[in-house]
Amino acid sequence: MDPSLLENIQVNLEESKEELANLLQRLIRIRSYSGQEKEIVEFILDTMQYYGFDDQYSDDLGNAVGRIGDGPVKILYDAHIDTVQVTDEESWTYPPFEGRIVGGTIYGRGAVDEKSAMAGFLMAGKLLKTLYQNDGLPFSLYVVGSVMEEDCDGYPLRHLIEQEGLRPDYVLLGEPTDLKVFRGQRGRMEMQITATGKSAHGAHNRQGINAIYKMNPIVTAIERLDRSLPSIQPLGRGSVTVSDIRSRGPSLCSVPDHCRIHIDRRLTVGETRESALAQLEEIVQKNGGEAVVAISEYSGKSWKTTEFTQEAYFPTWIMEEEHPLVQAGLETARMVLGKKTRSGFWSFSTNGVATAGRHNLPTIGFAPGKEELAHSSREEIVLEDLAKATRFYALFPFVLIDT
Ligand SMILES: [Zn+2]
Repeated sequence: MDPSLLENIQVNLEESKEELANLLQRLIRIRSYSGQEKEIVEFILDTMQYYGFDDQYSDDLGNAVGRIGDGPVKILYDAHIDTVQVTDEESWTYPPFEGRIVGGTIYGRGAVDEKSAMAGFLMAGKLLKTLYQNDGLPFSLYVVGSVMEEDCDGYPLRHLIEQEGLRPDYVLLGEPTDLKVFRGQRGRMEMQITATGKSAHGAHNRQGINAIYKMNPIVTAIERLDRSLPSIQPLGRGSVTVSDIRSRGPSLCSVPDHCRIHIDRRLTVGETRESALAQLEEIVQKNGGEAVVAISEYSGKSWKTTEFTQEAYFPTWIMEEEHPLVQAGLETARMVLGKKTRSGFWSFSTNGVATAGRHNLPTIGFAPGKEELAHSSREEIVLEDLAKATRFYALFPFVLIDT
């Protein structure tokens, strides 16, 4: 790697700090709830073109995709650009879509989760095109603003890989890590159990079969299962939660013939779709064997009116600390932060469930912002941290290729 590269990046970004802050401010000002990302996608594509990216387009789902360089190693930077809604405007200190800057900190919906990463990616892209106008970059860097992640984590990148044929060698996620290198997360899935009985008039209840009574021992057994789940390092314990129960009968004065529970399952190391399903099937078998277990489905429609359905299964993934991608992340962080940093894991779910979880593509994350502020009325980013992350994004591909 060219020894003057880090210095060139530092100097150049020092001069662009205000532009970087303005860019994030503009991203925050564009409301982009899941399924309504058209305006922000257009803004990102315009910015990519203005900054000299080699290509930019929106794919069939509606993701914003840009490319810099056409070297053989394909690196994908992903930041989802949809946000959760604001339903508590009164609890925000500053208006959530203003992007107000106070004392070097910017506030607003999406600041942490995760428009900062997109601002950093775009500015890093601009810098790479400034330093390498005539190309010769040894990598192809794809910058993706993915849509609908908050609704169906992983799906936007599944679409890109499976439908659009873009298969990167390495993936970097812009979910908040507070400037640490994250390398995995617990997985999750949603399941349903349905019990069927026989309806009857409440006055003749013994002629019916009560579906709620069939479900009752199953619910109790699931509560016991949750307490028995083992803690497996480095991700800790999985969990199983009955999150909803519904029943149906001819009236409230009848024996219900239908009862369904919804189950939220968090998956730790070694827990898979099959093992989680088998546990519930065993519970059903031990309690009469008359209920049916199924994995829930998620259906969505993007701003391009593309419809999709996928099983609500989001696999656990972990990268080993020794993996070259993780090592390159730690080395880049050391260079831009001037000190050693640690690796860690997210407690929430990310698009890594698709890249690493389903497709085995090496994946890590690095971004400013604290994970616990995501989805809250306290989303804030220290602009100095955003500048550091942007230095990371510009330098990382070179370090990765040297690793
Ligand atoms: Zn996020």
